[in-house]
Order: sequence, then C-alpha cells, then structure tokens
Amino acid sequence: MTQTVSHLMRAYARQPVSFVHGSGARLWDERGVEYLDAIAGIAVTSLGHAHPEVAAVIAEQAGMLLHTSNVFRIEWQERLGRRLCELAGMEKAFFCNSGAEANEAALKLARLYGHSRHVQQPQILVMENAFHGRTIATLTASDNAAKQRGFEPLLPGFLRAPFDDIEAVRRIAEASPNIVAVLLEPVQGEGGIRVASPEYLRALRILCDRQGWLLMLDEIQCGLGRTGRWFAHQHAGVVPDVMTLAKSLGNGFPIGACLARGAVADLLSPGQHGTTFGGNPLACRIACTVLKIMRRDGLPDRAALLGERLLAGLREALGNHPDVIAVRGLGLMVGVELSRNCKELVGRALAEKNLLITVTRDSTIRLLPPLICSEEQIDDIVRRVVGLIGAEAERL
Ligand SMILES: *Cc1c(COP(=O)(O)O)cnc(C)c1O
Repeated sequence: MTQTVSHLMRAYARQPVSFVHGSGARLWDERGVEYLDAIAGIAVTSLGHAHPEVAAVIAEQAGMLLHTSNVFRIEWQERLGRRLCELAGMEKAFFCNSGAEANEAALKLARLYGHSRHVQQPQILVMENAFHGRTIATLTASDNAAKQRGFEPLLPGFLRAPFDDIEAVRRIAEASPNIVAVLLEPVQGEGGIRVASPEYLRALRILCDRQGWLLMLDEIQCGLGRTGRWFAHQHAGVVPDVMTLAKSLGNGFPIGACLARGAVADLLSPGQHGTTFGGNPLACRIACTVLKIMRRDGLPDRAALLGERLLAGLREALGNHPDVIAVRGLGLMVGVELSRNCKELVGRALAEKNLLITVTRDSTIRLLPPLICSEEQIDDIVRRVVGLIGAEAERL
C-alpha cells in the first residue's frame, strides 16, 4: 500500500496489512500472501469469510429491497424476531445496527423499567473488567479507565461490582435501594476472556428475582454458538430478562438486537425509541440466513468440540511455560494470559506466523476463530501460537 497522508482519524493503531479477499478461515493480502484467521473480525465472521450462501442472499435481497423504514411492517424483521425469541426463550426484539446500540436499548429499557416502578433515580449494576461499547452510556458501563479518560463527564446511574462474586453483589444490594438491573457478560471478552461460573449466574438469577432487578446479559461476543451453546448463559441453565446480540448475527453485515421477556418486553410505546437503519430487510434477511446455517450445520456443537481441542492443545503445550499465567476459555472463546505486556505479539503473529490474533488487557492473547474451522486449522492455530510464545507444540 502506498503511504500517503491519511485522512482517517487516529482512532486505531493499525497493522500495516490490508486484506483483499477471504475464504472460510483464510485471508489473502494485496501481495497474495495467505493468512489464518484466529479472530474472525473480533467474533463477527463466525461462518468464515465469503460464505457462498450469505453472499447469494445479499445479492438477491439487494436486487429486491434494501431499506424502507420502521414506520412500515418489515417481514424479514418479524421473522428474525420470531426465530431469535424461539432460540433464546425471549418474547420481544428490537433491532439496531451494532452492539453498543443494542446495549443502549437495554440500558434505556432498564431505566424505563425503574421509572415504571417509581424509582426516580434508577441505578444499573455493572461489573469490573466489563466491556459494553463506546457510546457515552456504554462507555460508562464499561470498566476501562484508559478508554474513558478524556470523555468525562460520564453518566450517573451506574454501580460496579467485582465479576463472578455473588457475595459482593449481595452487599451492594443491601446498601443500594435504587438498583433496577444488573448488566454483565456471561463470558467477558475484552476483559480478558473471563468465564462467569454457572453457580454465580444461577445465584444472580435468584437474587434478581428476589430484588425485582432485571438480569441483563450482554451476549454480543459470547452468544450465537461461540461458547458451544446457542447462548453462553445456557451453560448455567438460567434465562435473562434482557439479552443483547450483535457481532456474528450478520456475519459481517452490521446488525444488533435487544431481546426481552416478561414485563420489560412490553414497556416501550411508539415513539420512545427508534432507529433509521435498524432492522432493515437486508440486515434481517442476512441474519435469518446466518441462524439457518448455524442450526443446519450444528455450529454450536461444533464450537464446543473445536473449543475443547483448542484449549487442550494450548494447555498441553503451554501449561508449564514460565511466561504463561493461564489458558482459559469456553468453546471458541479462548485466552492465553502471559505474565508480561504482549501487545507486540499481534504484529509478530501477522509477520512471522501469518496468523491473526488480538491481545486484550495488554497481556492476554485472545483467540476467536470462526466456528467453521477444520480440526486441522485449530491444530494449526495451536502450533502457530505456541511457536509465537516460544515453546514446542508437542504431539501435533
Ligand atoms: C463488541 C462488543 C460490544 C460493542 O459492540 P459494537 O458493535 O462495537 O458497538 C459490546 N459488548 C460486548 C461484549 C462486545 O464484545
């Protein structure tokens, strides 16, 4: 790529690579060099790149109708709402264009719910290490001082608890009568791949019922098959009151969803919330196709199998490595925490191993491969990551 003056704001420290096309878990740059994709655009392209059925549906719908408006009925939106609610045991859906927007809808619902119960200053309990997006409300809900710095004042109405610690939530509950909802990720992604225990989620469900709080789960990264179940909370056997989705729902086409059940599902009245683009025929038809393929091809089960293989391979090769603090994850959401800042590994993985990874919280290598990977590709990811950290992949 020729280096000229960039007209892009410096929101990203970009790698000096630009991809031209892809297929499944593979990508090619402008020089024709092939790469293995172990991040799927941050848990977005779960079906891999250039999935032929998704491409065909985009072309067909683009030739029919892209957009009308939410002031009209949209058949594909109604179908997608039905499909998602059936899958998740929810009742109603609101569609938007991104994860942050889905969480904005959830946060607005929580406040509306609070006011419906005559709580004048409703508060929402969020978690340490959380990530919920970059709008002002979702940035406030996130726990990352570096990302918040410079954007103050943040919003009032949030309290924070340590993650996966039910006693801490109980203590906060006693002191805080204005809490109306809890928002958390069942598996924290940006926070370093931290898995909430099933016991914690079950205890939280009981506590929310007792306190009259909404249990709101952000499954934007961990949902839609990635952890080995359709939704990560299903490992614990609980059902949330509100759940947000985005990322892999469109396999790269922007779409977000806020699902709800019970009293909160019917709180919105016409005019209270809205979006121009959200839920348009193209986005919703693509998402219907993504869900159909995931179900037909058994991708949640496949993610469980591949995830075990990935974790086992990494643990075997790196379990005793002096630089490795932990290898953890659920399904195809895997983190390797090192004892040092390892942000430089992203560039080294690209240049030396032709491998796409990310590093989160400075010291955790995050792997989010597409759910359609072959076993060989999973083993290949293990080999390349292990080689990068500097150990020998045994028995591979
Ligand atoms: C990516 C992500 C978001 C934000 O989604 P955007 O589409 O980038 O707005 C929110 N929550 C979680 C858990 C995420 O992983």
